[in-house]
Amino acid sequence: SEQEERTLPASRKLLILINPFSGSGKSVRIFHEHVEPMLTEAELEFNTITTEYAGHAGEMILSMNLLDVDGIVICSGDGLVYEVINGLMKRPDWEAAINIPLGVIPTGSGNALCLSALFATGEPNDVTSAIFGIIRGNLMDLDICSVITPTEKLYAFLSVTWGLVSDVDIESERYRFLGERRFLIGTVARIIGLRKYRGRLSYLPANDINGGEDNLAYNFTPREDVSSSAAECDVTSLSQHQAHIQENLNGVFSKRISGNFSSLGPSDHLLPPLSSELPPSWKVVEGEFILGCPVFLSHLGTDLMANPDGKFGDGLMGIFYVRSTTGRMALLDLFGKMKDGSHVRSHHVEYVRAYAFRLEPDTSQTGNLVVDGEKIDYVPIQGQIHKSLAKLMCV
Ligand code: ADP
Ligand code: MG
Repeated sequence: SEQEERTLPASRKLLILINPFSGSGKSVRIFHEHVEPMLTEAELEFNTITTEYAGHAGEMILSMNLLDVDGIVICSGDGLVYEVINGLMKRPDWEAAINIPLGVIPTGSGNALCLSALFATGEPNDVTSAIFGIIRGNLMDLDICSVITPTEKLYAFLSVTWGLVSDVDIESERYRFLGERRFLIGTVARIIGLRKYRGRLSYLPANDINGGEDNLAYNFTPREDVSSSAAECDVTSLSQHQAHIQENLNGVFSKRISGNFSSLGPSDHLLPPLSSELPPSWKVVEGEFILGCPVFLSHLGTDLMANPDGKFGDGLMGIFYVRSTTGRMALLDLFGKMKDGSHVRSHHVEYVRAYAFRLEPDTSQTGNLVVDGEKIDYVPIQGQIHKSLAKLMCV
């Protein structure tokens, strides 16, 4: 692969964050029984902090001295990883901060990051493999998706879920004591009480021909001497405008930040402001859906390979959506097929690879919108992938 090979030094200082609330509350015990003895044996230096409340880890990350840590290890589920990544990205020195290697010990009820990483390296999905990955300290690239809402900018590593999947994410919270089985039970309950969700889903499709997203900057305008009809204003005609686009990229537009946010974080050069129209190179689907989800990793959970083509550091998202014409039995069947990713071959599912997305739910309905497992307001959102922004100790 094109992954940059990098290994951390054998002697390094790790900051270990333990969430006593994650999963069925077993993080502290797993740390003392399994993680601590192995790290001590490997002669790694570490400080542990047990989080005291939701948001605690994020606050610590904001004020931490970067020179004090060579890596941050998270003993929790995806929720604490999300908190840490957003804390790192909120720092004025975000570019250096997000480069600090992250490790995960999967003690939550949702451990999609660790699961996807172990799947990618061919290791068994268990705590011991995760610890060995951290001790070896080889780094894997992790893409981060900026997520822009009308009021804030977030950073996601896992998914944006909408419709049935986000309802399950939120409604199954109260079955947390069941661990990961909460997603199965929640899904069956939601298929029985099936609903439809109205909205518009847009995306900037990935293409291999022109070698990269940089050719698709939103501020692109076709030159007059070349056809600019909607049908032709696609990747082919874009490639003819390389010079023109480069001019734009180097110019004032590429420095513009989408929305009214502070200038922290990478610039989202593929995204017009949320209230502006999208360029013709984007694809748009609208109407009634059962679900629609941009996914940044291969797996959403155990036996849920939502994005089978997803690779670490590929700079792409997989978007899958199901229209409202699909019935309950077909949905149950699709859910089972997610185990090996074969749901994407079903005629009930559309599966595309993209650089960026926009999701505009019909806000006259109620519904859930979930970013990396965390509920946000039911409002229009958009996002773009930032290739290999973070690093994972996992190989
Ligand atoms: P799980 O996969 O079990 O949901 P997560 O890692 O996702 O585990 O954590 C769930 C939530 O717990 C996260 O939103 C995190 O911010 C929050 N959290 C972290 N520390 C604590 C704590 N000490 N008490 C309560 N909640 C916490
Ligand atoms: Mg990816």
